[in-house]
Amino acid sequence: MTLAIVWFRRDLRLSDNPALELALRDHARILPLYIHAPHEESPWAPGAASDWWLHHSLTSLQRDLRARGVELQIRSGDSLAVLQEVLHASGAAAVYWNRLYEPSVIARDKHVKQQLKEQGCDAHSSNANLLIEPWEISTGQGGPYRVFTPYWRNARAKLEPRPPAPAPARIPASAINEVATIDDLSLLPRIPWDTGFHAAWQPGEAGAAEALDDFCAAALRGYAERRDYPAEVGTSRLSPYLHFGEISPQQVYWKLEELGREQGKTLREAGEPFLRELGWREFSHHLLYHFPQTPQRNLNPGFDTFQWREPDAEQLAAWQRGRTGLPIVDAGMRELWHTGWMHNRVRMLVASFLCKNLRVHWSHGARWFWDTLVDADLANNTQGWQWTAGTGADAAPYFRIFNPVTQGERFDADGAYVKRWVPELSRHAFKSVHAPWKQPDLLARSGYPEPIVDLAESREAALQAYQAIKQ
Ligand code: FAD
Repeated sequence: MTLAIVWFRRDLRLSDNPALELALRDHARILPLYIHAPHEESPWAPGAASDWWLHHSLTSLQRDLRARGVELQIRSGDSLAVLQEVLHASGAAAVYWNRLYEPSVIARDKHVKQQLKEQGCDAHSSNANLLIEPWEISTGQGGPYRVFTPYWRNARAKLEPRPPAPAPARIPASAINEVATIDDLSLLPRIPWDTGFHAAWQPGEAGAAEALDDFCAAALRGYAERRDYPAEVGTSRLSPYLHFGEISPQQVYWKLEELGREQGKTLREAGEPFLRELGWREFSHHLLYHFPQTPQRNLNPGFDTFQWREPDAEQLAAWQRGRTGLPIVDAGMRELWHTGWMHNRVRMLVASFLCKNLRVHWSHGARWFWDTLVDADLANNTQGWQWTAGTGADAAPYFRIFNPVTQGERFDADGAYVKRWVPELSRHAFKSVHAPWKQPDLLARSGYPEPIVDLAESREAALQAYQAIKQ
């Protein structure tokens, strides 16, 4: 009776999990294993919000495995050493896992695979989490893409996602003595800043399926028109579930296909703009794989001599904690702190404010997001920051500087989003809740701060700095 280890990483689901499926196909029993090794992801070990998510996601996976008669083994340490130890203790003959794409993880996995194979152990890796892996698509000249539109045109034409397999009903298992529990990993915050997270999220595979169903029922049809309005639930909020592999993009794709078939043309049309956003996720992974230096360095080296300002500690803290005096920026930063998530439009606004009005290098913002987002994802976060800062691939040009007042008035016209997250502004009748400093008496009574920078002056200074590198 052969036994295989299924090494769970960021594929925390039982349905459409190729590693699990192959292990069950080729072996009589399996041993599911999670190895906690954040040091191996350095310098991008998961942040505090990701740890919160991981704790609950592992709990959910453990519950789902137990319901099928098998126990998730939890270990901490160096992945290779733990795998060797568990192989030895269990008598397993093979290890199965699903691939990840961060540079440090790729290097680790390559080493693990080579070592295991040298020791005579079967080591199998599969694609579970991308529609198209980064090396499967290239430009006419054979290189990586840097521009989204041609990338997606090519990728979309090639898309043939596997039909997702259902979760196995029972899993023939083998157990060794469990040596750690999820609590032993100390993933939950010591100071409880996560109270808002519980109301906002249900980590795990069931939560992911529910989020997709809710989105398809309520918001998919209006997605293209409503996705930019942060007060509305106009997007899927699938990002943390996709990041932790609690749902695969293949499952999302086939759900859209199925609904399109059942409900006709308009839904198919509505599904396409949503699929395109998943395309941005694919593109981000393509970029990270081909330009692995980009979490630290500007993709466009032209910006290496740009005159960023040394971040002023008070201004940076005001930005982080939603006290800049720019309402939509502060609403976003407070939403992030409270729920671990922020609407995409507002992510762009807060990032533009930091990189352009405060002229702080995007890496400071990326680090803060890394620690506070439940969907913190090295590929998407790097791409999102470099795009907004103007330093990345296919980026918003640096001279396009979002104005938080006009953006607020356009995308949060009745101020509902700002009033929700900045309640001190909701208690007074401002003419525009997006520019409360225009009514100094009311502003003073509200207790909300004045802007930490003048928007017009800081914009001008940013444009001048940009002119300097252009020359
Ligand atoms: P939906 O609109 O429902 O989109 C569906 C899915 O498509 C998302 O879950 C996500 O996986 C993907 N997607 C959507 N927009 C993008 C995009 N612009 N780039 C890449 N993938 C996208 N996304 C992350 O998942 N993790 C991050 O760490 C992250 N950091 C960001 C930082 C900045 C400065 C910016 C501007 C964007 C960042 N994004 C990040 C992208 C985007 O904001 C989120 O993916 C999106 O807001 C998640 O909400 P949703 O699931 O409701 O998205």
